[in-house]
Amino acid sequence: MNSNNIVDMFLEIAEKIESEKDYITELDSVLGDGDHWVNINKGYQEIVKMEDTLRGLPLSELFMKVGMSIMSVVGGSSGVLYGDAFLKASMTLKGQEAMDLQKGHEFLETALDAMMSRGKASPGDKTMIDPLFSVVKAYGDGLEKALTKQELGAAISRAAEQGMLDTKAMIAKKGRATYREDKGVGYIDAGAATMYYQLDILGKHIC
Ligand code: ADP
Ligand code: MG
Ligand code: MG
Repeated sequence: MNSNNIVDMFLEIAEKIESEKDYITELDSVLGDGDHWVNINKGYQEIVKMEDTLRGLPLSELFMKVGMSIMSVVGGSSGVLYGDAFLKASMTLKGQEAMDLQKGHEFLETALDAMMSRGKASPGDKTMIDPLFSVVKAYGDGLEKALTKQELGAAISRAAEQGMLDTKAMIAKKGRATYREDKGVGYIDAGAATMYYQLDILGKHIC
C-alpha cells in the first residue's frame, strides 16, 4: 500500500464513520458520556481536509501528520489513544515508499502496544483495543500460513468484527463503562465499534 492507497482508505473510513453518528452516539451514551462519535468523526474529518497534503507525503510522515492532528483536534480518551498509536506506528515506516504485508502487521502491532501502554489496558477490558488485538493476532497467523492478500484481507475483516462483537459480553475494566453497576455487560463498546469500522475497511483495501 502506498500513500494514495492509504488516503483512499482513510476517505472511505471517514465516510463510514460519518454515516454511523446515531448508532455510535447511542452506544457511547449507554456505556460512556455520548461523545465518542463526535471525537472520532472530528479526527477523520480533519484527515479528509488534509487529503491533498497527505497524498504527497512519504508514509512515515503521512501517519505522523495524522497522529499529530488527531492529538490536537480530538478530545477524550480517543484523541490521546489514537494520536499516540499513529505517532508510534509511523516510526515503523521510516524510509518506506510503500507498506508490504509484513510492514502492515508491524504497524498494527506497534499501534496496539502504544494503545495498551497509553491506556494501561489489556485485551479483554472491553475497549477499542479488543478488535485491534484480534486483528493483530489473525494477521500474524495469516502471515505464518502464507495466506494470499485476499484471504488475509478477509481474515482481518472477520477478526475485526469478532473482536467488536466479543466486547458485548465483557466486563469493563477500563473507561467510563466501569462506573456502571453492570460494568456494561450486554452492550458493545463504542470505541470497539469504530475500531471495527476502520479495520474492516483496512481488510478490504489491503493490497
Ligand atoms: P471519553 O471516554 O473520554 O469520552 P471517547 O468517548 O472518545 O472518550 O472514547 C471512549 C472509548 O475509549 C471507549 O469506548 C473505549 O473503547 C476507549 N477507552 C476508554 N478508556 C480506555 C483505556 N484506558 N484504554 C483503552 N481504551 C480506552
Ligand atoms: Mg465518550
Ligand atoms: Mg468524553
